[in-house]
Amino acid sequence: MAISPLADSRDIKFILFELLEVDRLNRYEKYADFDRDIYEEIIDLAERIAEEKVYPVNSEADKEHAVYDPSTKEVHIPSVLKPALDAYYEAGFAGTHIEPEYGGMGMPFTIFQSTLDYFTCAGVAFSMYPHLSLGAMNLVKNYGREEDRAIVCEKIISGEWGGTMCLTEPEAGSDVGALKSRAVQAQDDTYSVTGTKIFISTGDNDYYSNMIHPVLARVEGDPQGTKGISIFMTPKYRFDSQGNLTGPNDVVCSGIEHKMGITASPTCTLNFGDSNECTGSLMGDQCHGMKIMFNMMNETRLYVGLQAMSLSSSAYMHALAYSLERVQGTDPTGNTNDNVAIIKHQDVKRMLLSMKSRVEAMRTLVYYNTYLFDIVEEEKDETIKKEAQALIDIFIPICKAGNTDTSWQLTSDAIQVYGGYGFTKDYPVEQLARDSKILALYEGTNGIQSIDLTMRKLLMNRDLYNFAVYKKRITETIEKAQGRVNEKYVSLISRGLEKLDETVTHMIKRRDNRNMDQIFADATPLRELFVMMTYAWMHLWALTTARDRFSSICEQNSGKSIEELVSENSEAAYYNGRILSARYYIGSEFINFFGKAESILSSDTAVVESNEFTFVNTFAG
Ligand SMILES: Cc1cc2nc3c(=O)[nH]c(=O)nc-3n(C[C@H](O)[C@H](O)[C@H](O)COP(=O)(O)OP(=O)(O)OC[C@H]3O[C@@H](n4cnc5c(N)ncnc54)[C@H](O)[C@@H]3O)c2cc1C
Repeated sequence: MAISPLADSRDIKFILFELLEVDRLNRYEKYADFDRDIYEEIIDLAERIAEEKVYPVNSEADKEHAVYDPSTKEVHIPSVLKPALDAYYEAGFAGTHIEPEYGGMGMPFTIFQSTLDYFTCAGVAFSMYPHLSLGAMNLVKNYGREEDRAIVCEKIISGEWGGTMCLTEPEAGSDVGALKSRAVQAQDDTYSVTGTKIFISTGDNDYYSNMIHPVLARVEGDPQGTKGISIFMTPKYRFDSQGNLTGPNDVVCSGIEHKMGITASPTCTLNFGDSNECTGSLMGDQCHGMKIMFNMMNETRLYVGLQAMSLSSSAYMHALAYSLERVQGTDPTGNTNDNVAIIKHQDVKRMLLSMKSRVEAMRTLVYYNTYLFDIVEEEKDETIKKEAQALIDIFIPICKAGNTDTSWQLTSDAIQVYGGYGFTKDYPVEQLARDSKILALYEGTNGIQSIDLTMRKLLMNRDLYNFAVYKKRITETIEKAQGRVNEKYVSLISRGLEKLDETVTHMIKRRDNRNMDQIFADATPLRELFVMMTYAWMHLWALTTARDRFSSICEQNSGKSIEELVSENSEAAYYNGRILSARYYIGSEFINFFGKAESILSSDTAVVESNEFTFVNTFAG
């Protein structure tokens, strides 16, 4: 059995073409020239290049890691990454969904994400280089100066230049409004930018010949806090109207972090304007920096949810392959005295099924979320567009925080499947676990995501429109499943939705009673409920389709047992596997949802009552 180390490509095609029917996006004029064959071709190419060029260097790049040279103040990325990045750019993947007028292929965002999925499975740190660059490029494309747009797009799509996102400072982590970076307008329309940004991913490197840094800073005299923040395009090297570099722009890297994971991606401290010679151009309107960042943040947070999903996919595929090879113990059925591969043991199968079900739920959620971006972009019907945006808004914190919490647990489970070998550097799963932890921290910690969901997406949204759309869509899935899927699973999701509604109503009462402390204490448990509900929903949707497809294969092969069928027909094996993982998730993991909901409804006040003295009981004197 050949097992891909990256992903189950059959499952990617199932989600894209059988659940989302992404080829039907050609109903929009922009995608009219594309069809399933073209999409499959580019996705298959991504799989091949990711597996042949990126995956083989992922472990080596981790060991070599990025290095800072203090004498030259230069950052050297692992040498093995360079040919992998060349292969990515030469095949044109960076421009998959970018408009042709900017040098891209103009395909749906969903297709781009499925290619990115493979590259991220092959190397999370690898994928950060092109993807963060595209984020910076999008900012310039949407908010930059007219004269910069075409140049920056062309250079970033080709891989000549890279880009970053510069928010964080020593005193401004989660509290971005506390930043100290400054901008002073010059005689022309440029600004002199000064300040220090820390933790900047790929902030400096020797792969790209120039870097585009969108920098959050405050123009002197503007209000304190997030209201007074503006955003500036600040390149590492200045450039002329032809894109030729004309000299350094006083952006200097003063060091990189020594991290537990994603070591192949340098995390840099960048000093802007230490010699007062750093020039930036305002993007969008003055004081609109946070609004602009929020517009871009959905896409970046979705990417982090994708990183978690892809990394988990790779961890699961490795654990699966190992479980088929590692022989330990005798046949647990007792029918023979043979030694068996560990996949034969019930506890190992349980771990694999749990991993498989969570990867599938995460992937369906990420792809569905991405597909909604395409709908919002192209749809003319205002109601459809508004509903898609409402779902995106509610999905983003679920996807970012839910998938990243899951990937940390799931990579730990992958190590568990390997036994002691998983804990060693001789096998790849320990790297995946190390690489995974950052995902819960950057792009807004998961605690901040929980508050975003609870407050901005639910309780501050007085008409609860997002939640109404969310419930409506789940109800539609339940209705479609009725009569086609075993009642047990349909009923669990129906009861779950009622319980979620009860819990949100309970939180609304707290809001109306101004019991904010209790709301914040329960923000993460509430977000976890939404994650479980959403994963279960994704599985019910898939279960309904997979059940129909499997039944029709069984009808065409009447007389054969399921055991016979799955051992000789790969489509039957795929659908049956999808059914079993959906049943497992809904029947065995989602069931915990009810206990978690009760813990919120019981309004225990231990967290709110606790204070520093709960934890510190040693007093001086
Ligand atoms: C490897 C790496 C790469 C990064 N890449 C980038 C990058 O490219 N660009 C960039 O700008 N930044 C980047 N960051 C920074 C990252 O986004 C921040 O680390 C993150 O936002 C958290 O800030 P902090 O580390 O200061 O933690 P803090 O803000 O100090 O948070 C510490 C803890 O307190 C909690 N907390 C803080 N405030 C609240 C609150 N109001 N309510 C409830 N809980 C709260 C947090 O959830 C967390 O658990 C990166 C960081 C790392 C480690």
